[in-house]
Amino acid sequence: MYNILIVKYGEIGVKGKNRYLFENKLIKNIKNMLKPIGNFNVYKEYGRIYVDLEDYDYEEVIEEVRQVFGIVGVCPAVRGEKSYQNLKELALKMLEEKIEQGYKSFKVESRRGDKSFELTSQQMSLDIGGYLVSEVKDRIAVDVRNPEIKIKCELRENHVMVYSDTVAGYGGLPLGTNGRAMSLLSGGIDSPVASWMVAKRGMELECVHFHSYPFTSEKSQEKVRDLAQILAKYCGRVRLHKVNMLEIQKEIGLKCKEEEMTIISRRFMMQIAQRLADKRHCEALVTGESIGQVASQTIQGLTCTNAAVSIPVFRPLIAMDKTEIIEIAQKIGTFETSILPEEDCCTVFSPKKPVTKPRLERIEKSESALDVEKLIEDAIANVEVEDIEF
Ligand code: ATP
Ligand code: MG
Repeated sequence: MYNILIVKYGEIGVKGKNRYLFENKLIKNIKNMLKPIGNFNVYKEYGRIYVDLEDYDYEEVIEEVRQVFGIVGVCPAVRGEKSYQNLKELALKMLEEKIEQGYKSFKVESRRGDKSFELTSQQMSLDIGGYLVSEVKDRIAVDVRNPEIKIKCELRENHVMVYSDTVAGYGGLPLGTNGRAMSLLSGGIDSPVASWMVAKRGMELECVHFHSYPFTSEKSQEKVRDLAQILAKYCGRVRLHKVNMLEIQKEIGLKCKEEEMTIISRRFMMQIAQRLADKRHCEALVTGESIGQVASQTIQGLTCTNAAVSIPVFRPLIAMDKTEIIEIAQKIGTFETSILPEEDCCTVFSPKKPVTKPRLERIEKSESALDVEKLIEDAIANVEVEDIEF
């Protein structure tokens, strides 16, 4: 029955010229998301975005479209030739389907895009409602206050349209409408979720991963690549920078206290990420940190890592519980990959008893034994870059 999708998007802060940019980005991103299924006609009409379904299975198409950032909902709809009689018949067809699905009460909501039509939208609802009731008899009841479903009928300038369901989207803002961020992507559960959340607000993503090859395996890098590949579904493409931390970690191991290993390496990671961000015109860093989750994420730990950089650091998970983070990881499809048992560069060198309340002055003093600048430069000189396309 369905031959078209109506795409609903949030319009907060989307006015004037911005609206036009927002919509065009959204159309491009929808087309991109649908590429693996086929080439779809996605277009704007009377302030709405539509996707023509052709002969594709509507559920399969909706499942992809609803995952495009900026979309709050997707409605499968039937569009037909413009005639009031046709509108009534399509409404009846939809209602019959809803009865079959077991719904017990409904209401008609109408819209008259064609202002020259003789009935007002209220009169249309009454009239169509009366027609439907007479056709379906008492198989479903009218309930204007609290109906289980609404049959939405529209009489437009060039066509009529009927729809009922809305499949929820993720909301957010279209990708590419809010600049670019550099995300610190480990192989864990948290950082892919943090990256996704920032991308949801319209930021394009680049990722940086730190490894200690050959102490960490090639497999562990593949795992991070796979995570970036999943993120690329939402982001179109993701550039992954891979940085070897081994020399830095060895130096820290030689010259600093064992208990400070994690926090000092974390500060190196932040600084390297910032340099890469500057180079790639990324305006912020993203991490998957959450208050108190591990020793390096106490408030003192966060203070130390934060102090290593000057650009904004976004930590979208900061106040979330692990269970909440896992829920999102499952929803966006990163969880299964994240829990694969691969070692991380931090776990390889992790101290038996890390400091939980590091003091910045102490840490800075420990770092003065290192040639920080040279270590950073060397690490960056050997960075490997991979472009991961959706
Ligand atoms: P995750 O599940 O994302 O690995 P985590 O709970 O294990 O997080 P930590 O290992 O303390 O937490 O790391 C905190 C944050 O630091 C990560 O979310 C990530 O943003 C960054 N990070 C840690 N290790 C790496 C790494 N090897 N490469 C890139 N970023 C890292
Ligand atoms: Mg980790």
